[in-house]
Amino acid sequence: MILSLSTWKHGFHPNQVTIEALNSGKSALDAVELGARDCESDIACMSVGRGGLPDATGEVTLDASIMDHDGNCGSVAFVRNYEHVIAVARRVMEKTPHVMLAGEGAEQFAEREGFEKTDLLTEKAKSLWEQWMAQPDKLHVRLRRAEEGTQEYVFVHGDEPEELVWRREYTPGATQGQQENSHDTIGVLAMDSAGRLAGACTTSGLAFKLHGRVGDSPIIGAGLYVDGRVAAAVATGDGELMMRACSTFHIVEMVRQGIEPAEACERALERIRQDKRLTGDKQCGLMVIRADGVWAGRSLRPGFQLAAASDVLPNTLFDITANSMEKARF
Ligand code: ASP
Repeated sequence: MILSLSTWKHGFHPNQVTIEALNSGKSALDAVELGARDCESDIACMSVGRGGLPDATGEVTLDASIMDHDGNCGSVAFVRNYEHVIAVARRVMEKTPHVMLAGEGAEQFAEREGFEKTDLLTEKAKSLWEQWMAQPDKLHVRLRRAEEGTQEYVFVHGDEPEELVWRREYTPGATQGQQENSHDTIGVLAMDSAGRLAGACTTSGLAFKLHGRVGDSPIIGAGLYVDGRVAAAVATGDGELMMRACSTFHIVEMVRQGIEPAEACERALERIRQDKRLTGDKQCGLMVIRADGVWAGRSLRPGFQLAAASDVLPNTLFDITANSMEKARF
């Protein structure tokens, strides 16, 4: 069988790219890279690659990781001016003895490897940053789209009482327009026709993060983990939560011990719920593919979506919550 999963609604097109690559005989590793690259080039997606929202100083800094069936992995963190950080991460994996390069060193490596420099900050992202800069108490302010399909954004305060934020942001059945837009990494998992698993994860991280902040996405075992004999898992959401819980490693290790994929996601979320710093505005979405092709997705709260496609399932968007998963109304 072939199978691909991608996080969020903006993962729908990348997931199509990934499944088509698998269909044409590409390896899971090539397919996840192509899916991730597709999103990195999509400037309408303001949480990945070019067009991503900048940090607090107005600079776009990207994180990415990639991992193959055999446990080879590469990652980059805090990279400026290179659009396809997923490809740079793959180059780290294939051409260096290291797993991770960060900041200037990663940028120098990308240059030496012939990657093209790009201005990542779009006019739209810059204007939202300027609006954020004008907010009082801005470090506690987050962004959401006023209405799905519109380009209007509003700022919401992240420190409101849990009940209030929950109701306003994550009411079950809420329109996508009520979802937060301060983050949304693309994570892509795939299984190819030879049964090999691979995963990719690429992001501009939390919008308006402190300069130098690195999230879970490039951290092997937090944002992404693959053991081809067992499972592949990827995470999205407030990275600090998954970093403190090593969520994707946790999921793969539970699957190794015979726990069903959906239950493994639930238990990983349960661990995150014990995090003393968890507040009502925080989200976490998890996806997993077991080595036999059984897959699952779960999230802390309503609002997470994933795209799934296989040789028997046309590319389909699902609404995910804790305990359930249903076909989304597109
Ligand atoms: N996990 C990413 C980060 O914390 C953001 C996201 O997935 O939404 O950088």
